[in-house]
Amino acid sequence: MDFLARKGLRLTAQRQAIIETAFSTHQHFTAEQLLAWSRRRDKSVSRATVYRTLPLLTESGLVREMDFGKDYKFYDPNYAEHPHHNHIICQDCEQIIEFESKKIEQLEREISQRLGFSVNSHRLQLTARCDEYRRLGTCQRKDS
Ligand SMILES: [Zn+2]
Ligand SMILES: [Zn+2]
Repeated sequence: MDFLARKGLRLTAQRQAIIETAFSTHQHFTAEQLLAWSRRRDKSVSRATVYRTLPLLTESGLVREMDFGKDYKFYDPNYAEHPHHNHIICQDCEQIIEFESKKIEQLEREISQRLGFSVNSHRLQLTARCDEYRRLGTCQRKDS
């Protein structure tokens, strides 16, 4: 809200519904998911407003855009609170799990020090097959 005010943008009812929705979940979402969830809060939320509001959220630094090589992006509402977490995504059902690893952080420090750098940020995304996909060749939760 402060960020919008600093940019001189009005907090419309639609925008407020979208922002509240984005920060009331710990799940990672696509623009279409955010639209569907926001409409549960406020039926008047339009697709155009969702697509215009998402860049503001990422620009504010509170939400991080994630590209898993699909033709749409995912958005992470947990980034500001947990900037060190990593993601693994199922290539079929697209469930995203977060994980943190002291070992990976240590490895990053070792490598960057050896090369004369210091790490500011990192991004680790694993594309994988979830257990169900490995066992059955398809994910049932895909359509949920
Ligand atoms: Zn995340
Ligand atoms: Zn899966």
